[in-house]
Amino acid sequence: MFLTISTRGDAAHPATDLGYLLHKHPDKAQKFSTSYGTAHVFYPEADDRRCTAALLLEIDPVALVRRGKGKGRGGAPDAALAQYVNDRPYAASSLLAVALSAVFSSALRAVCTARPERAATPLPLRVEVPALPARGGPDLVRQLFEPLGWSVSADPVPLDTEFPQWGDSRYVRLVLESEKLTLAEALRHLYVLLPVLDDAKHYWVSSDEVDKLLRAGAGWLPGHPEQKLITSRYLSRRWSLTRQAMERLELVRLAEADDSEVEAIDNAVPEDTEAAAEEKPAPLAVQRREAILAALRESGAARVLDLGCGQGQLVQELLRDVRFTEIVGVDVSMRALTIASRRLRLDRMGERQASRIRLVQGSLAYTDNRLRGYDAAVLSEVIEHLDLPRLPALEYAVFGHARPRTVLVTTPNVEYNVRWETLPAGHVRHGDHRFEWTREEFRGWAATVAERHGYVTGFVPVGPDDPEVGPPTQMAVFHRADTEKEAKAA
Ligand code: SAH
Repeated sequence: MFLTISTRGDAAHPATDLGYLLHKHPDKAQKFSTSYGTAHVFYPEADDRRCTAALLLEIDPVALVRRGKGKGRGGAPDAALAQYVNDRPYAASSLLAVALSAVFSSALRAVCTARPERAATPLPLRVEVPALPARGGPDLVRQLFEPLGWSVSADPVPLDTEFPQWGDSRYVRLVLESEKLTLAEALRHLYVLLPVLDDAKHYWVSSDEVDKLLRAGAGWLPGHPEQKLITSRYLSRRWSLTRQAMERLELVRLAEADDSEVEAIDNAVPEDTEAAAEEKPAPLAVQRREAILAALRESGAARVLDLGCGQGQLVQELLRDVRFTEIVGVDVSMRALTIASRRLRLDRMGERQASRIRLVQGSLAYTDNRLRGYDAAVLSEVIEHLDLPRLPALEYAVFGHARPRTVLVTTPNVEYNVRWETLPAGHVRHGDHRFEWTREEFRGWAATVAERHGYVTGFVPVGPDDPEVGPPTQMAVFHRADTEKEAKAA
């Protein structure tokens, strides 16, 4: 198995700098022994204008089996013959990725003391992999590499050139070209995506693979449109690991998205925008919290979840009222929770007060046993931060699994947006909003959720209820149907 990396250059920036970046001298052919064969690095061409480094991995399938490294998934031996006769010597599989990381470890980390500026600058790069096993075919190859700035050619390799009627093999000849990437970025893409395309790891995948994936995926995997497929395949479809990795990627995405933004996310609408468009002095965020507190008091709840609590303003209000005996703030963003804990002065709080409150990190897109058995849950300006396809997961986690007696959900009413003087037409109120609903859309959603999970709903306007476009914030109040009956009977 084999891959080449080429670059172009000129007298001022000779292409042979590639040798410095890879920490391998262009004039020498070098050999590295690995536990499953020998890796060779050599340069088929090396001058100022063009330089190509080749990584060739010589696999010994017999040795691989003898050393117990040819086992199938879960350590079960493959069918006897397949252990010896397989594509390992020829195809660019996870073995090549491992060799890549072993032989070019400094280059992967962009360490280059001789040419630091070249290591940090995008280069004209061309990568060629003559036989890449690609489960998912050329289309998937393009979907994986193109969003990263590569132009991709992936031609299926025929099973046998003399018998074209046999059709194509599952291998493609891959050529990647880009001028936008540094060498380290390119190597990290290959390190992750070669085994993802092969979709069969030669070794047992354990939890430290999550760390490796996040390290190699830094800067490009969070937010990649195929992030889920990449993560799941890279971790050999081990669900618990995939979930761990997806949660961590979500955190990274949120952390990158904000800095200045957490501030804004926290209030869903920056308070000054709202205050400007508002006749009443109380900003909408304050009115929202008042409406939520009133609904919670009315429901008789004592133990309350604030799901997607952000920087903890509602938690702070809840703490002021002793009828709320247990308050749990949940958020996926560690940064938001840190700010919340500072706001609440958790470290300086008396024991009694501190025993009422907990802040926990978690994603609402997954069921969580820690959230079961509460009287009420609040989702204030949270649902619109989830991609619509992820919303059913949250619905199930909250209404199907945690199942509090009361659930309050607030979200912007998009009809009201025409009343914000500062909001250009057709814009959502906050950059991180994935959708904003009309009153009808929200009611339709709430009715479906209630029906599916056994709740009854009511609706409360928050903010000035405009006769034409309705209120700026809409709130749904869900009560579990079984407890509703009990309450009526009592
Ligand atoms: N409830 C607060 C904050 C709303 S902003 C308020 O009303 O002001 C939305 C919050 O939801 C953010 O803090 C964000 O980190 C959090 N969030 C977004 N997606 C989430 C998820 N999948 N799981 C948990 N929290 C999430």
